[in-house]
Amino acid sequence: MAWHPHLWHPTTQVATSPEPLQVRSANGCLLQLNDGRELIDAISSWWVTLHGHGEPTIAAAIARQAQVLEQVIFANFSHEPAEQLATRLSALTGLQRLFFSDNGSTAVEVALKIAWQWWRNQGSDRHQLIAFEGAYHGDTFGAMALGDRSLLTQPYGKLLFDVARVAWPHSHWHNDSVEPREQQALKQLELALETPTAAVILEPLIQGASGMRVVRPAFLRAVADRVQAAGALLIADEVFTGFGRTGALFACQKAGIQPDLMALSKGLTGGFLPMGATMASERLYQGFISEKPSDTFFHGHSFTANPLGCAAALASLDLLQQNPERFEGFEQRHIPLLEQLSLLSQVKRPRCLGTMAAFELNAGENSYLNPIGKQIQRQCLEQGVYIRPLGNVVYILPPLCITNSELEKCYSVIELAIKQVIPG
Ligand SMILES: *Cc1c(COP(=O)(O)O)cnc(C)c1O
Repeated sequence: MAWHPHLWHPTTQVATSPEPLQVRSANGCLLQLNDGRELIDAISSWWVTLHGHGEPTIAAAIARQAQVLEQVIFANFSHEPAEQLATRLSALTGLQRLFFSDNGSTAVEVALKIAWQWWRNQGSDRHQLIAFEGAYHGDTFGAMALGDRSLLTQPYGKLLFDVARVAWPHSHWHNDSVEPREQQALKQLELALETPTAAVILEPLIQGASGMRVVRPAFLRAVADRVQAAGALLIADEVFTGFGRTGALFACQKAGIQPDLMALSKGLTGGFLPMGATMASERLYQGFISEKPSDTFFHGHSFTANPLGCAAALASLDLLQQNPERFEGFEQRHIPLLEQLSLLSQVKRPRCLGTMAAFELNAGENSYLNPIGKQIQRQCLEQGVYIRPLGNVVYILPPLCITNSELEKCYSVIELAIKQVIPG
């Protein structure tokens, strides 16, 4: 096997990475490789595979839809799957309008453009945007600009617009220093909000890509109160946290906040098809309706509201709503296993929320470039478990279908890998 002569893989440095593994098929939480090996997909294939690979009712819904209507331009047309999905997501999020796009980054871009233009349409010149330290909102330019500056955005620095940054007071088990950091972050936010602000964007409850950094619900409520008092719009980027990942259908509900805009993707279609959705309040929608052509939201993607994606999303929502205990109860499955693992001296700052469990390795620095995670990843692969640590942050985020014995295997394989790689 060698690197393919015609492919370019995402976020991959070919000079230092092992060649990609060839996957033949996938089922449940298992990936079957061409060489006959089987791996547990312990991170839901970059957080998208919600119920499990090949989930039969979603597969069937896509197949049925493909025989009826596979795609149609969504500018002069509408269709049943899109309308049903909009109605259901509106009821579930408390935001009346759904704008479709193709992935998480575009869902964020759309939220940002709606927020920005809504103010222009009002004749307001509010121009400040506020985001949090460690934020990740996607890889397109607007999303990169909203995200914190990092190794990933470094080459594009000059092209990224300015955003005011507020600290993200993340916490973990047995942490008694979080309150003063929360108070400090709120003071920073209050100060920033003294400048007329168009929108504040955050990842509710968990910052994913920067290392599964969890904040307390009370902090988010305090943030939302201040944003509302300042009259700014609140954008919740639920691309990762949506659809049960935090133990509630949406993290905003668990935190008790109501945003003006919400970006959704990853779990939206159960992980079967690429699709993004931006939910917006009716108030924002009404701000674009006028006789003036320039008040129009001139944004649209070729595959807007793809019927196959809508059908998959509807089937996925059915599964979530018929079996809420599967995501609501997931945390209780993680907790005893994570407690056991965190007895190791190599493990620090454990935290767990819904289907996500994470901790840091007590080795080297807290950085995306810390090689320790890659060493742990290699050891785990040899034992049949696929994880993808973020620097020294190891996390498990399995599909909902994972069995207890498969979940226990993930933890025991990780424990063994830690003992092999880092002296206790
Ligand atoms: C993954 C992610 C995105 C970007 O989604 P893509 O589909 O990869 O473009 C945006 N925001 C958050 C919080 C994410 O986790």
